[in-house]
Amino acid sequence: MDCIFCKIIQGEIPSYTIYEDDSVKAFLDIQPLTNGHTLIIPKQHFENLYDMDMEILKHIELASQKIGKLLKEKLNCQGITRLQNNEYGQEVKHYHMHLIPRYENELFELKTDKNKITETQEIFDKIVK
Ligand code: 5GP
Ligand code: ZN
Repeated sequence: MDCIFCKIIQGEIPSYTIYEDDSVKAFLDIQPLTNGHTLIIPKQHFENLYDMDMEILKHIELASQKIGKLLKEKLNCQGITRLQNNEYGQEVKHYHMHLIPRYENELFELKTDKNKITETQEIFDKIVK
């Protein structure tokens, strides 16, 4: 399969791997948003959240806790932001969770189009009715 992250798992593309076990691998992002920006991926190919195996999802969650603690301890970051894109906004179509260490007074922005934001009541009705 022509998937960059499968190639990283197979060792065909090198990576700075900081954690690995039977089902997941975590390595440093090639274009870090902050120092220590890490990606956690399942060793099995899943495209995104919608097709992820439940047990592996749990495993990724547990690994993110371990790796989060590791980054906090080793890099002295003041926080960690987790991000995970699906379909639109997802560059690599192999499930991955971003762990982004946060440092006090360092820029990190999620921008929004304020004029596109609808009344919360309207959105709520669309979702639950
Ligand atoms: P997405 O936008 O899909 O959520 O994020 C994909 C991430 O993968 C980006 O942050 C990008 O820098 C990272 N990335 C893409 N190709 C490679 C690669 O070959 N090696 C590593 N380490 N990271 C990659
Ligand atoms: Zn893959």
